[in-house]
Amino acid sequence: MTQNRLFIFDTTLRDGMQGTGINYSLKDKLDIARRLDELGVDYIEGGFPLSNEKEEAFFQQMKKNPLHNAKLAAFGSTRKPGKKAQDDPHIQALLAAETPVVVVVGKSWLAHVEAVLETTPEENLRMIHDSIATLKAHGREVIFDLEHFFDGWKTDSGYCLKVLKTAQDAGADWLVPCDTNGGTLVSEATVIYAELARENFRLGAHFHNDLGLGVANSLAAVENGALQVQGTVNGWGERCGNANLCTIVPNLVLKMNHSTGMDLSRLTELSRFVAEKANLIPDRRAPFVGEAAFGHKAGQHADVLQKGEAGGQTSKDKKTLGLMEHMDPALVGNTRRILVSELAGKSTVALKLAKFGVFDKNSHEVQELTRLLKEKENQGYEYEAAEASFELLMLKVLGRHRPLFELDNYHLESFKTWNREPQTVGRVFVIVDGKRYMGAGVGMGPVGVLDKALRNALDHVYPFLRKLTLCDFAVRVLTSDDVSTDSKVRVFVSTSDGESNWDTVGVSENIVEASWEALVESFEYYRASKNL
Ligand SMILES: [Zn+2]
Repeated sequence: MTQNRLFIFDTTLRDGMQGTGINYSLKDKLDIARRLDELGVDYIEGGFPLSNEKEEAFFQQMKKNPLHNAKLAAFGSTRKPGKKAQDDPHIQALLAAETPVVVVVGKSWLAHVEAVLETTPEENLRMIHDSIATLKAHGREVIFDLEHFFDGWKTDSGYCLKVLKTAQDAGADWLVPCDTNGGTLVSEATVIYAELARENFRLGAHFHNDLGLGVANSLAAVENGALQVQGTVNGWGERCGNANLCTIVPNLVLKMNHSTGMDLSRLTELSRFVAEKANLIPDRRAPFVGEAAFGHKAGQHADVLQKGEAGGQTSKDKKTLGLMEHMDPALVGNTRRILVSELAGKSTVALKLAKFGVFDKNSHEVQELTRLLKEKENQGYEYEAAEASFELLMLKVLGRHRPLFELDNYHLESFKTWNREPQTVGRVFVIVDGKRYMGAGVGMGPVGVLDKALRNALDHVYPFLRKLTLCDFAVRVLTSDDVSTDSKVRVFVSTSDGESNWDTVGVSENIVEASWEALVESFEYYRASKNL
């Protein structure tokens, strides 16, 4: 049985902007808002129009190009003590943003009323009433956020109820208790929402993740009557983040039978899109949308999955598949990944090769790839986090690999003088179609210089390389437990073309050579995958 239609409120562009290392440009904000709109989010909180010019420009741009499905919300606080709402700059800025929805934040914790607002409990109630009534008189849908509600409730629940009733009387459409400092336990959220359910409030939920309970608290709020859930894409936000919508929404819909307006089949895409805009690497282990969420490693396991993948199999195969995964990854737009590892048998390898055609478990190609994989893993390569390199390995076995160039030589020199910054200069000589090309680079570190010099050499031959950016670089020293010989390094390189990311790996006793290998493969993979 389908339960309630819930409303999803995204605050990636307001609360989410407080996250460490997050700084969206105006264009990023506009792009994210469009994408959220396409996916069927109900409310998009765009920011605080009074805070700076970028925020104001965002609302201006949105006015010219309104959203199709979602309602845009501007965020601001209640009026100042002792003033009139219609004369208050915050309220005026909220109205000037001309959004259909406004979010007004007010105090419900008496300690804050006294220490921060430096006013009386009664004046705080008047401020809330006046601010909401003024915005309602201008025809806005008003969402009232109750800051530090849960702390306030623990010290004086009577005052919190008064605040809720005042906001309701003033005409607020939604009342949203906020766990502003994120310290609330699930048991506390459950009891408080259950008590609130006795009143006739239309409630939302706004949790932070300081206890790692942002998602759990949001689900508890819904179980106890909340109809609106606020959060951010990937859970990014201040401190430990906001409640993660990419986890909450699939739980609500797929596990708890509620409905929302969101197209979950594009959720994984949304998560990665926002990560790209934030210039952050998406969490591989994120529930539902992470790369590892539906990964399978063991050989026998892969055998079962292969049967299921082929479709139309016996009900026994389907049943076994159901035992391996808690849901079909396609429901959230994710895919099943069969991880390659020396533990994996020929079934895994055959399943991987299926991308390029039908190969029997005993075919020459499967045997050869299995052998090569073992050999590479003994040398220290690991393909679970470097699928692009594995794909190149498959192309090599199939005789379909096209190298970008033949290396003549590369040459690097790093030097440091006195206490100045170290410098590296490098040159690369490569041969493409019998012609020799030279590239050079200067910089601090050897890997960056190698990258520069190689791009410089190939710039005219392969202009598509200009689109690629190196977005992550990780080095791990391998011990004799990992490899047969000692003191090797394994380098992972993550590269992006602005739309997707891929990972490559290199292994050598020399860090420059390991990096070179991963770098070259990242370019080669791109050409192979785009058929350039
Ligand atoms: Zn917040």
